[in-house]
Amino acid sequence: MLILMKSNASADQLGAVAARVAEIGLTAHPLQSASRTVVAVTGELNGHDPALFSSLPGVAKVMRLTVAFKLAAREVREEDTVVDVAGVKIGAGQKLAVMAGPCSFESPQQVLAIARAVKAAGATIMRGGLFKPRTSPFSFQGLGKDGFKLMDDVRRETGLKFVTEAMDEEGLELVEQHADMIQIGARNMQNFSLLRKAGKARKPVLLKRGMSATLEEWLTAADYVLSGGNTQVVLCERGIRTFATHTRNTLDLSAVPAVKELSHLPVIVDPSHGTGFRQYVAPMALAAVAAGADGIMVEVHNDPDKAKSDGGQSLYLEQFSELMQAIPAVAKAVNRAV
Ligand code: PEP
Ligand code: MN
Repeated sequence: MLILMKSNASADQLGAVAARVAEIGLTAHPLQSASRTVVAVTGELNGHDPALFSSLPGVAKVMRLTVAFKLAAREVREEDTVVDVAGVKIGAGQKLAVMAGPCSFESPQQVLAIARAVKAAGATIMRGGLFKPRTSPFSFQGLGKDGFKLMDDVRRETGLKFVTEAMDEEGLELVEQHADMIQIGARNMQNFSLLRKAGKARKPVLLKRGMSATLEEWLTAADYVLSGGNTQVVLCERGIRTFATHTRNTLDLSAVPAVKELSHLPVIVDPSHGTGFRQYVAPMALAAVAAGADGIMVEVHNDPDKAKSDGGQSLYLEQFSELMQAIPAVAKAVNRAV
């Protein structure tokens, strides 16, 4: 349910509405924006009539939400949300966010070589897994917390911001402490305790789409983070499982305009996991920009043939630089700054 306040409603009236909501055992989420003040109400109405709020002082209108997700819904917040990753702003027509780096951090030399190259090519956020969700327990699992020192060194030299995945609650605390953005991977999109913990974190969250998640499930997962008080969520389309075998996953670019219609949250696209093959990454990255994505996340490696994970879908440094040179023309065509 959504309670729309009158434009001249006072803070006391807003407080009284929130108190009334709490009185009947529901939760009030007041949301103020430039154009309006609303109170999103979550919880089970249990027979209470929404009309009971209509007559409260300062209330303009009471509406039922038509979608399963609440706080992520465009119905609740009309303006696009801008997410601030240590000064790099994502969403609402801001410059395209470019996150690039290896699948996994492997060594100081590897991290530094890639960092310098992606920075020179124009990326502002570096990616790189320390805690890796690998299909097999015998595959490289990541450097773990030793990797944070590499991150600090590179940050000092290049000014790049960092996003890295938290696989569990303990890892999330470390990532929150050391990185600029917390990535929740596809396999954890419905790890509800992890999502709740991310909702209490003071760093922005990158929420990847689950491999077989509908948009409703994805946005409802975002609600877990938002309901904890963390408003800073960026969604990342990274491909879904289909019957197709020519790619690792089927990159669902139609999710970009569809999510933008349904939600106010920024959406970026990961064409690396979305295709699984290096030769498809640049075309799909450009297509993502054309589709209106707020950014891209691309795997880049200085020696992909020897990479410890996802080498086959990682761009060579020069390929990433070429991609970056191709982006402005596409961005310009859809009125987007790079
Ligand atoms: C990643 O980005 O490192 C990753 C593992 O991606 P996903 O969760 O989308 O598979
Ligand atoms: Mn990877």
